[in-house]
Amino acid sequence: MTLHCKHSSRQNVIFGPVPSRRLGRSLGIDLTPHKTCSFDCIYCECGRTTDLTTKRKLFVDPDRVLFELKSFFDEHGKQFIDAVTFSGSGEPTLYKELGYLINSIKSDYPNIPVGILTNGSLFWQSDVRKDAINADFVIPSLDAPNPTLFKKINRPHENIKWESYIQGLKLFCQEYKGNLRLEVFLLKDLNSTKESIDEFKNLLLEIKPPMVELNTLVRPGVEKSIAGLFTKEMKYIASRFEPINCKIIGKYEKKKTQKETVKDLDSLIIKILSRRPCTLDEMSDSLGIPQSLIATAVNRLVKNNLIRKLDNFYFAGSDRKSVGIV
Ligand code: SF4
Repeated sequence: MTLHCKHSSRQNVIFGPVPSRRLGRSLGIDLTPHKTCSFDCIYCECGRTTDLTTKRKLFVDPDRVLFELKSFFDEHGKQFIDAVTFSGSGEPTLYKELGYLINSIKSDYPNIPVGILTNGSLFWQSDVRKDAINADFVIPSLDAPNPTLFKKINRPHENIKWESYIQGLKLFCQEYKGNLRLEVFLLKDLNSTKESIDEFKNLLLEIKPPMVELNTLVRPGVEKSIAGLFTKEMKYIASRFEPINCKIIGKYEKKKTQKETVKDLDSLIIKILSRRPCTLDEMSDSLGIPQSLIATAVNRLVKNNLIRKLDNFYFAGSDRKSVGIV
């Protein structure tokens, strides 16, 4: 399939591998231009949504995506990759040919699990559910237990009504036979109060996901005022959700494999950081190279104003505004 795309000249769509607490070393595919999403979440690691939309489009030629993936594997091999994940700096189900890409990648690389990290906001549309149905894993999210918090936390596009969003999640949970984990992202004093937890529990019993993953903020988000929960609080909430099948997303487990060199290290670091802020340790583990080499490269990039450091995290861009943090 060869198509003429509006964004045919934009940067690579393949990024990473990104260190993921759930997926190990996940090679990302970012199908939407920064930052195109149906939500504008207050905790988003990618900055403010600049194109808030529900319109599905062909942002990039699917053959170009497949070509970039093949080039990556030809150059770096497949042994470092635990999963290929549609994610990045926007909502992947906004991409019109998502189903075609999932089927093609599964057929070209049958041993690598292919999955989607999605906000789940478009599952009320049957074409979106159909596109996602063949993925090996799907991780949709539910950050609010009621319409008021939905608006406050996710700041959705006006076309996304709370009732359709919940109905879409229910339908997808019924139809999908792969590995589905519904992520509940908890924020201090916002959606983690006693009332919210009771509402969440009732809603989850209605949606019936096979597994719930509790997550919380560990990286800087868009709004400075928000905060994550301590493990103790997460454990308490998990116990309150019983008998729902629920687990807490743990710390990222380091891999042992390391290589001494990597081609274009600076640009690989910038690509990883343009999708999410990372620590030195995470970058080292994700790229499978020693931390001393990463440290030298990031010092050079910081000096040249190509990335910046805030606490233990490194960001793409030279100022807080450039990563959308206000
Ligand atoms: S967190 Fe995900 S769903 Fe929310 S604005 Fe960012 S990319 Fe969109």
